[in-house]
Amino acid sequence: MRTEVLVIGAGVSGLTCADRLARAGVRTVVVEARSRVGGRIKTFRPADGGPPLELGAQVVHGDRNPVHGLVETGPAPRPTAARVISGRVGRPMGALARTPHPPWLLEARLHAEGAGAGGSVNGWLGDVGGPYPVASEWFRQIWAADPDRLSAAGVAAAQRGDDGGPGEYVVSGGFDLLPRRLAAGLEVHTGRPVQVLGWSPGRIAALTQAGTVEAERVVVTVPPAVVTHGTLTIKDLPEHKIEAARELAAGDGCCVVATLSVPAPETASVFDADGVSGFVSCREGRPEALIVAKDAAAACVRAATGPDLSAMLTVALPWAAGARVLERRIADWGADPWSRGAFTAPLLGAERAPARWAEPVADTLFFAGEATVSGTRLPWVQGAIASGVLAADRLLEAMG
Ligand SMILES: Cc1cc2nc3c(=O)[nH]c(=O)nc-3n(C[C@H](O)[C@H](O)[C@H](O)COP(=O)(O)OP(=O)(O)OC[C@H]3O[C@@H](n4cnc5c(N)ncnc54)[C@H](O)[C@@H]3O)c2cc1C
Repeated sequence: MRTEVLVIGAGVSGLTCADRLARAGVRTVVVEARSRVGGRIKTFRPADGGPPLELGAQVVHGDRNPVHGLVETGPAPRPTAARVISGRVGRPMGALARTPHPPWLLEARLHAEGAGAGGSVNGWLGDVGGPYPVASEWFRQIWAADPDRLSAAGVAAAQRGDDGGPGEYVVSGGFDLLPRRLAAGLEVHTGRPVQVLGWSPGRIAALTQAGTVEAERVVVTVPPAVVTHGTLTIKDLPEHKIEAARELAAGDGCCVVATLSVPAPETASVFDADGVSGFVSCREGRPEALIVAKDAAAACVRAATGPDLSAMLTVALPWAAGARVLERRIADWGADPWSRGAFTAPLLGAERAPARWAEPVADTLFFAGEATVSGTRLPWVQGAIASGVLAADRLLEAMG
């Protein structure tokens, strides 16, 4: 197969990039390893037609997020019960709100004041009167990173670089409607991992099991760890790019939808400050419980997806005691060969890596994906979209 531009990866960044190139009249082909588009956006739809649950990206952050212009969105459902687990006991979140330093206030303070901070988030928490273990775990779950390695200045800069505004929303029919919408009208080949990418200036050849795709240029949108693990080999990749990819390892993540034998009597959102299960939620009248766990908690959830799952759920959702787990859907992002993690937080010592990874090579290799904006924008869906736009614009400029 031959085309002008090949985009590797049909996540939001790759599809945004391809869409922009195609609209500019460039012949563009997208190849995707998985059998579906969307990458780290993955929606679970209950068989009985109940509301969708998200196993990857959860919410649309901000009222000016570009996602609102692409698919129908609505406000995120408000929980009727919000709890925090501490010492393996669940308490109303209100108790935390009455303490002098609730995590969300410390988070807002870091966003406002942290740009000049030189150290880690845990270091910053110490500077403002901590340690605050609950807030530390809160940052770990929001950023999928160890707060000892998470850069305070990076978090503040990413927040400032984002123009998405306040508020949290959901994609009404499920987040995966976004990549499906972006892919409509594009030439996308799923189930086609690129194994080896060879190139010389103005020419690329991407080897897949179904044959070789030749093009003049390529946009690589795979998570950098896919390259460092050798799942995608890019020949003659400059050393500084390999080093940047190594520094951009995504934080661990593991999500589970457990369908229980009884429906939930509450709409609950539970934050596990002990660092065991991340965030656990359920919706009144529905039998599903959702666990979204990152960094160290992801390993705990991964280890508990067998018989221990009921015990883990019961700590967060006492009504689940005695209920049977009828079905479990697991999205293990850390173990997934096409993602190798959840997303890329700004880590200490890796400040220059996102820009280096984003840098084109010989006007032939271009790069996009949330990791390319980490530390300057939020490494979430809106960051992935922005990276796709930037890569397309760089490529169009190179094409003259
Ligand atoms: C648990 C979790 C919770 C999250 N919560 C939120 C949230 O609430 N809000 C938010 O905005 N964001 C959230 N995110 C982050 C968001 O999902 C990502 O930032 C975004 O989807 C990344 O898009 P991308 O295009 O950069 O990467 P990806 O979606 O990973 O796309 C890259 C694509 O490349 C493909 N690929 C990999 N290797 C190859 C190969 N060799 N050949 C061909 N194709 C290949 C992959 O299969 C994938 O489809 C969350 C992520 C996770 C995992």
